[in-house]
Amino acid sequence: MRLKDKTVLVTAAGQGIGRASALALSAQGAHVIATDVNEEALRGLASEPTAGGSVETHRLDVLDGAAIADLAKRLPQLDGLFNCAGYVHNGSILDCEEKDWDFSFDLNVKAMYRTLRLFLPGMLERATTTGNVSILNMASMASSVKGFPNRFAYGASKAAVIGLTKAIAADFLKQGVRCNCLCPATVDTPSLRERIAASPDPVQAQKDFVARQPMGRLALVDDITPMVVYVLSDESRFVTGQAMLVDGGVTI
Ligand code: NAD
Repeated sequence: MRLKDKTVLVTAAGQGIGRASALALSAQGAHVIATDVNEEALRGLASEPTAGGSVETHRLDVLDGAAIADLAKRLPQLDGLFNCAGYVHNGSILDCEEKDWDFSFDLNVKAMYRTLRLFLPGMLERATTTGNVSILNMASMASSVKGFPNRFAYGASKAAVIGLTKAIAADFLKQGVRCNCLCPATVDTPSLRERIAASPDPVQAQKDFVARQPMGRLALVDDITPMVVYVLSDESRFVTGQAMLVDGGVTI
């Protein structure tokens, strides 16, 4: 079990990559604290069968600093933190009102500032015994890695995640804290399906998403979760400050 005896918190674990990651981490022996703003979506997660690990669930809105502080007080020190919550604003700068920009940065970036301010002190203390704690932040290939049409606020905010990740990695490397971020391609998740369904021509929108993938298909959540497990395990102990691309060759 690669994650035996590790406690890992995942945000946005109700569906999509977050949920699949919570299950993959617990299958590797971790005790997973699965959180989401949507309590209903978390239902059932704690009772899904996992090989060796365990899952507990908590409602957590990562926009709410007081709620994060309250949860942090009640939880044990973390070995791993996966900041997964995020939101896609669709459009160019001309479609992006200030409220869209602010919300994109609040959920995609400032939420990480909030969780890290509150969980990092405990993780630093934990690192004094284990020598190795790991943070994974959700970025995207649509970021400073590559520009895509209609991903103005999204790409800018995910680029900020890469910068935040490198800054944390540099500041805490000597104290046994590693910090990396994940840059997936387009992943078939409930929110992607909703975005496709809401587009003017859903059949064409689906084709367009697939067309930008050289492997001719979208990523599945389980194409992504092995990287999540790796980054949060001790096997990645020499890896920090990196943007881990899992993009099916888009950025070759
Ligand atoms: P999703 O969008 O289908 O689900 C998101 C989850 O986040 C939901 O369960 C929702 O309840 C939760 N959430 C929303 N607001 C929240 C808040 N304030 N606090 C806590 N939880 C909240 O999931 P997804 O498509 O797997 O995306 C997850 C992350 O991966 C996001 O950061 C996204 O930007 C990133 N990402 C997704 C893709 C993709 O193609 N799906 C590609 C690259 C990166």
